[in-house]
Amino acid sequence: MVDYTEMWEKLNLDLPAHEHLLNVLGKFYGDIYLSQQKRLKGMEYLDFVISEIHGLRIKELIEAQKAGRKVFGTFCVFVPEELIWAADGICVGLCAGAEIGKGEAEKVLPRTICPLIKSFMGFKLARLCPFTEACDLVIGETTCDGKKKAFEIFSEFKPTYVMEIPQMKRDTDYQLWRDEVWRLKEKIEETTGNKITAEKLGQAIKMINDRRRALQRLNKLRRAIPTPISGRDALLINQISFYDDPVRFTEKVNALCDELEEKVKRKEGVVPKGTTRLLLSGCPMAVPNWKLPYVVESSGAVIVDEESCIGERNTRDLIDENGATLEEMIDNIVSRCMKIDCACFTPNTERIEHIITLAKEYEVEGVIHYTLQFCDPYLVEAYKVEKALEKTGIPILRIETDYSMEDIEQLKTRVEAFVEMVK
Ligand code: SF4
Ligand code: SF4
Repeated sequence: MVDYTEMWEKLNLDLPAHEHLLNVLGKFYGDIYLSQQKRLKGMEYLDFVISEIHGLRIKELIEAQKAGRKVFGTFCVFVPEELIWAADGICVGLCAGAEIGKGEAEKVLPRTICPLIKSFMGFKLARLCPFTEACDLVIGETTCDGKKKAFEIFSEFKPTYVMEIPQMKRDTDYQLWRDEVWRLKEKIEETTGNKITAEKLGQAIKMINDRRRALQRLNKLRRAIPTPISGRDALLINQISFYDDPVRFTEKVNALCDELEEKVKRKEGVVPKGTTRLLLSGCPMAVPNWKLPYVVESSGAVIVDEESCIGERNTRDLIDENGATLEEMIDNIVSRCMKIDCACFTPNTERIEHIITLAKEYEVEGVIHYTLQFCDPYLVEAYKVEKALEKTGIPILRIETDYSMEDIEQLKTRVEAFVEMVK
């Protein structure tokens, strides 16, 4: 076991609190992940990444910084990471999936704010996230009011740059987003000192598309009956895609898919025949937010897909690779982003259509609509989702929760009743 204490000390982490966090996370991971049966051999890599979550990857980032590269942290799939890689920067998705530093966060934020926002603020104020500390620049966005205002405070503690996200999808909104992407390009060039050329951007687009293609392949294999991989493992793979090295990650996921293909050919499932298949839809689940998948998969059901930004919403669309000039490539980046059907848009009928399509393609018996507490965009949109699914005859269960473990028994009772009902 490598000792990273010196590295964490240099990053100014709160060492005792950080050690406690790693112990809790290790135990939590053991209970939720390592206790699973019939896991794929390829999951060993993911287990290794998690066991080194604050170690090896951070060391790689610091070594890259010593070699002159810059590290950028992001929170939303709208931020086009291709521009970062094209400038020889490194992009990492920052975790905001744990109730860490809640007390610290509530000193600067209202108590009644989405747990994801509280989490990224808490990680920073409590000095517990080496990824946040290692970042040279955090790129925020104005997706929802809570995030937009929270970045004003966050920027007091960490260099932060904010992109304005459109709320509609008219021509003027495309233009707004195009301007924002060009503005980000300049900021990245200024931060890294590197010019983004058409050649470099073309390579970055291909690299991130390859990662999306590997995740698409994984998702397609999950359509098989019986399902060959648990929802927990698939979620973990998607979560890790946000901070692992993209080339290495793509290679590992493709190897895992080869193994999955064999399993599908042998008609081997990860759960007994007849286990209820469910689609999870709604807010993204950042590491280590595994509560609901764990509850669902210990209640006689299996999750076969996620309609979420840590899932289909992020991997469904690729960037057109046929752009020849920088202008064309940026236009292609803009077009892909504007296909994202986040609830921050109005109207957002595409999302409802996508949920219905996925429910049919994955042959699910029901949909669990998951919303973080106080997340107005997804909470309000749940009404329309529910109405549309009821009309189509697809059962839906609406869950609103946070990152605490207090409601776990209550969630279990509701999920079990739902599973019983849809059987
Ligand atoms: S749900 Fe919306 S705000 Fe959140 S990551 Fe996705 S696009 Fe961004
Ligand atoms: S989960 Fe909802 S409220 Fe929270 S940051 Fe995302 S969009 Fe905003």
